Amino acid sequence: MITNTKPSSSYVHIPFCTQICYYCDFAKVYIKNQPVDAYLTSLLDEVEKSQITELKTLYIGGGTPTALSTKQLDYLLAGLTANLDLSKLHEFTVEANPGDLSDEKIKVLKKHHVNRVSLGVQTFDDKLLKKIGRSHTSQDVFDTIEKLRQNDFDNITIDLIYALPTQTMADVKKDVATLLNLNLPHVALYSLILENHTIFMNKMRRGRLDLPDEDLDFEMYNYIIDSLEAAGYDHYEISNFGKAGYQSAHNLMYWDNSEYYGFGAGASGYVNGIRYKNHGPIHHYLEATDKKVTQEVLTLNEQMEEELFLGLRKKSGVSLSRFSEKFDRSFESIYGDIADKLIQKQLLKLENDHIFMTRQGLMLGNDVFEAFILDED
Ligand code: SF4
Repeated sequence: MITNTKPSSSYVHIPFCTQICYYCDFAKVYIKNQPVDAYLTSLLDEVEKSQITELKTLYIGGGTPTALSTKQLDYLLAGLTANLDLSKLHEFTVEANPGDLSDEKIKVLKKHHVNRVSLGVQTFDDKLLKKIGRSHTSQDVFDTIEKLRQNDFDNITIDLIYALPTQTMADVKKDVATLLNLNLPHVALYSLILENHTIFMNKMRRGRLDLPDEDLDFEMYNYIIDSLEAAGYDHYEISNFGKAGYQSAHNLMYWDNSEYYGFGAGASGYVNGIRYKNHGPIHHYLEATDKKVTQEVLTLNEQMEEELFLGLRKKSGVSLSRFSEKFDRSFESIYGDIADKLIQKQLLKLENDHIFMTRQGLMLGNDVFEAFILDED
């Protein structure tokens, strides 16, 4: 299925950080001595070549976009918005680290129409923050949120991680209570995942990482869902919770399996039925004329799998009529038997036109996703 309409979302990657967190496997480098100005010039050049004039969502992530200086941030945001019809830009998110956002940087965000800030908080427990390699404190989080609110940023989301080393159920309850106290419109909560090539993975291999077991992880997840739903948050995606009107339009675009541009070192994009990835190492990215290092045209089976993997992350699940419209075949003819089995196991539910995961399905998400992998013939 090839679409001819231009994507209406862009992701922009800033691969610099002022700290390297122990759990992180994102494409990033320590900012000191990096060619940041040259990177920004090259990035804006890549964006300009795409001749984008309209976007509904724009998301700057990393790395840490706010690791840039005020001047660099100003240069980046001015360049990204120069040719855009801003009346069409519905959601403009910038990721930030608590403690990085000076008054000047907040003013730069405001000046360039950023209307959503995503803070990498991870936990409010100062001891745990140190243990996972973060350089901010819980007070930095409170101060940053206060400052953002004073500057009329009400659309603030934070990332939290649970099942951290040595974390107990009581610790999670404390984090949830602090979170609810802040009365934010949106939050994303992730269970810690050990990724290869991280400091945590090395520690784990040497038997020096005390992680909560799977049962406790489930208990924490259940507690988080129950508490946030009771407080009026809609659990609209496996890890995401939003108050009415504050679901992330950009992230929903991914889970709706829509196409988007990806700019910057290591960024991925999906345009005209082709999934691509840019050169990751910064010097490769700077030197390459064509920034894309891989381009893959997806087979029909892969497209249908992605529709399922991504769509089932949402509470609303996958629309069967949209599926048949998009792929010109019915969901039942491809996945009927598999779905029946998962419904019997109470991992999936079918209601009206939508198939979606039950709470049990959410806990065992990978088992559900695996069942939908089709044989290539
Ligand atoms: S978690 Fe964020 S701040 Fe920490 S190293 Fe990874 S990208 Fe940088």
